[in-house]
Amino acid sequence: MLIKNISILSGHDLDFVPSTDIRIQGNKFKKIQPNIKQNTTEESLDCQGLLMIPGLINAHTHIGDSVGKDISLNDTVDEKIHPVSGAKSKILQNTSDDTIIDFMKSTCRSMVRKGITTFVDFREGGLDGVLLLKKAMSGISLRSVILGRTEFYQDTKAIRANTSFPSTKSAELLGLLQKCDGIGISGANENSTSVLKYYSKTSKLRAIHCAETKQSVARSKKITKISETARALILKPDFLVHMTHASETDLRLASRKTRGIVICPRANSALAEGIPNIKLMLKSGCTLALGTDNIMINSPDMWREMDFIWKATMGTYKKRIDAKEILKMATVNGGKVLDKNIGTIASGKIADCIFLDKHALDIEPMHNPHASIVHRASESAIKAVMMGGDIVHGNI
Ligand SMILES: [Zn+2]
Repeated sequence: MLIKNISILSGHDLDFVPSTDIRIQGNKFKKIQPNIKQNTTEESLDCQGLLMIPGLINAHTHIGDSVGKDISLNDTVDEKIHPVSGAKSKILQNTSDDTIIDFMKSTCRSMVRKGITTFVDFREGGLDGVLLLKKAMSGISLRSVILGRTEFYQDTKAIRANTSFPSTKSAELLGLLQKCDGIGISGANENSTSVLKYYSKTSKLRAIHCAETKQSVARSKKITKISETARALILKPDFLVHMTHASETDLRLASRKTRGIVICPRANSALAEGIPNIKLMLKSGCTLALGTDNIMINSPDMWREMDFIWKATMGTYKKRIDAKEILKMATVNGGKVLDKNIGTIASGKIADCIFLDKHALDIEPMHNPHASIVHRASESAIKAVMMGGDIVHGNI
């Protein structure tokens, strides 16, 4: 396919290019330059008036709780989403698999319409939970990165005694990993050092919630005398999720020892946990990606997430975080954190992208494309969504 006369945000730096041509071959961007000559066999589309940006990467979700939208609104974080005792686990226990699948399907469809081409899900419920999500995704064109877990949590006594991972569970973990993309651990406070070390030897992606609440940071110090981040790093995670209450020392450690941090500012705010210290994270050298977290507390909308960061950081620091940096969090940096060939419009990259209508009511005239996208664009400005070279929503 040859796309003619389109504006794009090009490469790792999302440089605005007013007009160029793009050849898409197989599932990748093959060639990007002006005036590409059409092959006799290829379809050519004039895309004047459209702006192509990378497909959005929602780097942290729990779509399994799509059935629990806005339950337990006024409870504490643990009362809402604690993996064992929270309202979330209760509603999931009392809902049939078919209903859970139906609502996960709705969330996947909603994400595609919103220009999300990849989502990274922390999937609870062991192998069954992973298979349920895969069933929900059948027939939906959306790239998933599923990080599963065995439902194995340790109490304070077991953590202090450094109890190891039970050998009876190791086959279960191996079976789980064969069916998903890696492990997503609920947190260091539910695992002994020995167990975190055991998980660190698994071969696929590894990620863990970390320093989401003041309480979890304090709890780690109390139980183990070690910071929650230092303990989470025992997992050798590819990336950490949240770090909302991490210290500068912890952030510097994270920037050296991981590929990055996935922040979830709207979810943190919805849970009254404040917002991550993005300025300090960037100063500490962290690569930041963006996620919308639990569906029960937040909508899977990366446009809203970007707008929220733009406004909340301005309100907090009285100084803007560059719109381009925010857009990178939703695209390029997601690809970096996952170490996948996605998130960027460049030749050789997988052709996941959004075609925005430059004349959309809310964004024309676009005097600053990055700012317009970050705080004005929404689902309504999307003309089409492409995943792996195929149009999966809308048309161009
Ligand atoms: Zn989470």
